Amino acid sequence: MSGVVIVVGGGIVGASCAYELALRGWRVTLLDASRVGGGCSQGNCGYVCPSHVYPLARPGTIAATLPLVFRRNSPFAVRARLDLPLFAWFDAFRRCCTEAQVEATMGALHDLLAAGKARYEEVIRAEGIDAEYEQQGCLFISKDEAHLDHFEADNRRMTERFGYGARRIDGKSLAAMEPTLRDGLGGAWMFDCDAHLRPDRYMAGLRAVLLRRGVRVCEGTRVVAIEGEHGRATGVLTESGRMESDAIVVATGAWTPELARCIGARLPIVPGKGYSVTLSGGQQLARRPMVFEQHRVAVTPFRGAVRIGSTMEFAGYDATIRDERLRLLTESASLYFKEPVRATREGAWFGWRPMVPDGKPFIDRAPRFRNVMVAAGHSMIGMSTGPGTGQVVAQLLSGEAPAFDPAPFRIGRRMG
Ligand SMILES: Cc1cc2nc3c(=O)[nH]c(=O)nc-3n(C[C@H](O)[C@H](O)[C@H](O)COP(=O)(O)OP(=O)(O)OC[C@H]3O[C@@H](n4cnc5c(N)ncnc54)[C@H](O)[C@@H]3O)c2cc1C
Repeated sequence: MSGVVIVVGGGIVGASCAYELALRGWRVTLLDASRVGGGCSQGNCGYVCPSHVYPLARPGTIAATLPLVFRRNSPFAVRARLDLPLFAWFDAFRRCCTEAQVEATMGALHDLLAAGKARYEEVIRAEGIDAEYEQQGCLFISKDEAHLDHFEADNRRMTERFGYGARRIDGKSLAAMEPTLRDGLGGAWMFDCDAHLRPDRYMAGLRAVLLRRGVRVCEGTRVVAIEGEHGRATGVLTESGRMESDAIVVATGAWTPELARCIGARLPIVPGKGYSVTLSGGQQLARRPMVFEQHRVAVTPFRGAVRIGSTMEFAGYDATIRDERLRLLTESASLYFKEPVRATREGAWFGWRPMVPDGKPFIDRAPRFRNVMVAAGHSMIGMSTGPGTGQVVAQLLSGEAPAFDPAPFRIGRRMG
C-alpha cells in the first residue's frame, strides 16, 4: 500500500520515517515547526550504541539519583514547580524500577538498537552520507577500580542474553589507549560493538537525500491539529492552512503531548533537558568516544572537533542555556583529562530528550485514527534507534512484515 503521507516532525525519527516511506513509493511531505534536524537530533553525542540495553528505570536508580536532586549543580536536576504530568511521570518511573520490567525492556531495546545500527550502515552506504560514521567502540571509564566492579554482573547478563558485552580494561592499558587521560584512573569497560557519528552532519545529509528523492520538505510549519472522521484521519491543520493525506506519522519528539489529545492517545512523554558543548579549536581530547560514568558526562571525537554532553534536567519546556550547566560539563570532563577543558558559549547547545518512564518509545497506530502512526518517546537513545523506527513505521503503514516485533512499543501499555 502507498499514497500521500504527511510526516510531522523532522528529527532523526521523523526524517527516517520520511526516507523509508519515500523508498516504498509513498508521496511524502515532511513538516517541521522549525527545521529538519533542529530539535534534539542536532547537538547530541551521536552514539549509535547497542550497548545501551539497560533502561534508566531499574531497582536502585531512585536511591542512587535522589541525593543528586538536592546537590547544587548536579548532572540530574528537577525544577520545583506544580507540574501534574511530571508528578505522574515520576510515579510511573518509580513503578518501572523492577527486575521484571528491566528484563522485558532490555529485549525490546536490543531489537530496536540492533535494527538502528544495521539501518545506519545500509543508508550511509547506499546514499553516500558523510556523517563521520565510525565503529571505534565506546569506553565507559571509572575513576577507581571499585566502581569498575559494579558493571561485572550486568556485563555477564547482557553477554549471556545477547551474545555481546564489554572488555574490561585496566588503568594502565587505558592510559596507553587514550594518552590525554589523567594517570591513575581505575580503568574502563570497552564496548567494541558501539559506533558513533556526527548527528548534525547526518541530519543535513539525510535532508539532502530526502529532497533528492522527491520528498516535499516544509520547514517553519507547525501542525496544530490532526483531523478526521469515522476512525480515519483526513489531514493536518497547520498554522498556515489545511493539508490532506492518506496517512500521517507523528514524530514530534518531546513536543508529542501537544498533539496526542487530537489522536486519542495519552502519552507519558516529558522533556529531559540535556546540554552539549562542541569544541572546534583543535583541542584533541579523545581518540574514541568515552563516558565518565561517575560524573555522567559523554565525550565524542569528531573530525577537528570534540563534543561533551550530559545533564538531565526536568524543567518543563525551558529554553534557556544556563552557564552553570555548561560549566558542569567542562569541569567534570577536566577531572579526567590531563589538560583542562575549555569551552566557549559558541558551541553550546541544549535539547529536550523525549523521556518515557519505561525507556521505550511509542511505535503504534493512534487509538482514534488507524491511518496515523505515532513514533515518539525515544528518550536517551533516539539517535541510535531512529533509523530502525523509521523502517518499522514504513513497513507497518505499507502492509509489510516489520523488521522487529513492535508489540513492546504499543500505546496504552502498562508502565510498571
Ligand atoms: C545531551 C544529549 C545527548 C544525547 N546523546 C545521544 C546519543 O549519543 N545517542 C543517542 O542515541 N541519543 C542521544 N540523545 C537522545 C536523542 O538526541 C533523542 O532521543 C532524539 O534526538 C529524539 O529524536 P526525535 O526525532 O524524536 O526528536 P527531535 O529531534 O526533537 O525532533 C522533533 C521535531 O519535531 C518538530 N515538531 C515538534 N512539534 C511540532 C509540530 N506541532 N509541528 C511540526 N513539527 C513539530 C520539532 O521542531 C523537531 O524538529 C541525546 C540527547 C541529549 C539532550
